Amino acid sequence: KAKSEGRNTSAYYSDGMTQSARERLTLESRLRNAIVEQQLSLHYQPQIDLSSGRIVGAEALLRWYDPDEGFIAPSRFIPIAESSGLIHEIGLWVIEQSCRQGVLWLQEGLPPLIIAVNVSAHQFQRNELQQQIADTLLSSGFPAEQLELEMTESALMTQHERAVGMLSSLKALGIRLAIDDFGTGYSSLAYLKSFPIDVLKIDKSFIDQLPEHQQDAEICKAIVTLAHTLGFDVLAEGVELAAQQLYLQQIGCDCYQGYYYSKPLPASEFSELLKRVGLSD
Ligand code: C2E
Ligand code: MG
Ligand code: MG
Ligand code: MG
Repeated sequence: KAKSEGRNTSAYYSDGMTQSARERLTLESRLRNAIVEQQLSLHYQPQIDLSSGRIVGAEALLRWYDPDEGFIAPSRFIPIAESSGLIHEIGLWVIEQSCRQGVLWLQEGLPPLIIAVNVSAHQFQRNELQQQIADTLLSSGFPAEQLELEMTESALMTQHERAVGMLSSLKALGIRLAIDDFGTGYSSLAYLKSFPIDVLKIDKSFIDQLPEHQQDAEICKAIVTLAHTLGFDVLAEGVELAAQQLYLQQIGCDCYQGYYYSKPLPASEFSELLKRVGLSD
């Protein structure tokens, strides 16, 4: 059977690699090439203040456009970037590019927006992250207080002492810190209160069935209360419906992002949107 499928297939049987291992390897070398060929870009999703209705920030999200395949989802290539170590190079580029874009928007006359950048646990594990961010802020001229780093709970909870030290040194740069996908990891409340963070981002899975799903509705309420008790802001992720937005507003959630307002946009479309909706008063 293998024979009738041609040469490549028999080569694949003989070298003993599983198909998924082969796919990973192919994707890894394509990702290396994508960096060189500048196929990576960032899209920006608006973050909305629920009390004013204004855009107050943007989450930078990686996009890989492959000329043959089209867009390849981060859920497919981020794990490969992480296992191959490419995440360090890519992650640094994301931070630099976000800061450069932030400066361009300020020069265009946009109001000062928070730009939120995702940082992988692998990046967080390296001590050089703090210096890289310090260097990038300096070389780009982007104001530290407009840069926010998003990390997941699991990135922070594994080595608590180190995490607190690392977060404190990042905080000392004047940047903002957020916990991404909150509620899906294994946050210890004792740890949570010791982290110098600014924002909890409620994971989309708790938002999806709002407001009808009673447990999720109560969980969101509890997260808002918890966050405010600890002195953090709360942002809800993945808001797709008016009813979800309304409920979040009613329970005192500070901000949200989601397709209801806008999907992630290329930088030029993001600034057009801002000029359309928000520079008038
Ligand atoms: P995340 O950081 O939790 O980002 C939110 C994801 O939800 C994004 O998916 C965004 O496009 C999507 N999203 C936002 N609003 C809605 C909505 O209303 N409905 C639905 N269905 N989805 C919504 P995306 O861009 O595919 O990114 C997926 C994940 O990949 C991110 O989750 C993040 O963990 C990772 N990622 C993306 N960019 C980067 C990056 O630059 N560095 C690192 N380390 N990870 C990244
Ligand atoms: Mg995120
Ligand atoms: Mg998230
Ligand atoms: Mg996520």
